[in-house]
Amino acid sequence: MKKTFAILSALVVLGALFVSCGGSADAGLPKMGVAIYKFDDTFMSYVRNAIETNAAGKATIEMVDSQNAQPTQNDQVDAFLSKKAKVIAINPVDRTAAAAIIDKAKGRGTPVVFFNREPLPEDMAKWDKVYYVGAKAEQSGTMQGQIVADYWKAHPEADTNGDGVIQYIMLKGEPGHQDAELRTEFSIKAIVAAGYKVEKLAEDTAYWDRPKAVEKMKAFFAKFGTRIEVVLCNNDDMALGAIEALRQEGFFTGGKYMPVVGVDATAPALQALEQGTLLGTVLNDAKNQGKATFDIAFALATGKDPASTGWTITDGKYVWVPYQMVTKDNYTQFK
Ligand code: BGC
Ligand code: CA
Repeated sequence: MKKTFAILSALVVLGALFVSCGGSADAGLPKMGVAIYKFDDTFMSYVRNAIETNAAGKATIEMVDSQNAQPTQNDQVDAFLSKKAKVIAINPVDRTAAAAIIDKAKGRGTPVVFFNREPLPEDMAKWDKVYYVGAKAEQSGTMQGQIVADYWKAHPEADTNGDGVIQYIMLKGEPGHQDAELRTEFSIKAIVAAGYKVEKLAEDTAYWDRPKAVEKMKAFFAKFGTRIEVVLCNNDDMALGAIEALRQEGFFTGGKYMPVVGVDATAPALQALEQGTLLGTVLNDAKNQGKATFDIAFALATGKDPASTGWTITDGKYVWVPYQMVTKDNYTQFK
């Protein structure tokens, strides 16, 4: 009798589970609002996919495109908060706008996870339910510099004018973005630390964007021509743009080469490495950044301690996903 009862109640529980799974889509799952600075960004599209993949079956995600406009994003945040999202994950358009977002979220008691665009430390300190998932920008710059230094060491002919100085062009991401500022600074520091002299021929922003980088590189080539010995780019899209412009000037055929480095290790960049155009890049680990963003947000949404996710949390609020150097020697690992 007891046994029958146990079996019966187990069946009832199973039935209830079944109804909740088969019922209206995702009913009962915690709601998360996710805002991306703009959908039209190669790297962010990888992060977006990673967030969605990790959320499947666990949370209902509303993902919005802030279209590179902070006022639009602010409205989207307001909408998430009034729709009672359990947590919001924000990739800010302007990282200095984080303060206002934190104040609003705190007012509602809704935790916030920022990612990829790092708020200022004083803003991060405003509330204990604010987290950041990203990567140490300095590290990616240092790795780029090491790739250039290694190349220079192995190829004395790279010093085309033989003056013992590396004449370079720097294509920057969006000014003010921590990755643009720090990659620019630390890539050169690493080259100098390796014992080389450098001369900056030109530096300009191409806003992370491939077509803009083609235009900038064309103009730089018109001005400096073969005085250019190295091209450093804050991301792969711009590196691919620079390569495209150089190709139009006759590079990458008949032994005419220019070392170009990027960051991200996007699929087209790995292809360029394979083809021998791109010298090197740095893995900006979108998969793990997206996973960490989701895991931390999910923990907050379900009232758990973010430390229980297994991610190492530094200073109570930061998850740092490591970068990795990528060259023709190891790129196949990242495909
Ligand atoms: C990536 C860039 C991307 C930017 C967006 C950076 O970490 O390297 O490719 O455009 O983030 O914020
Ligand atoms: Ca030189």
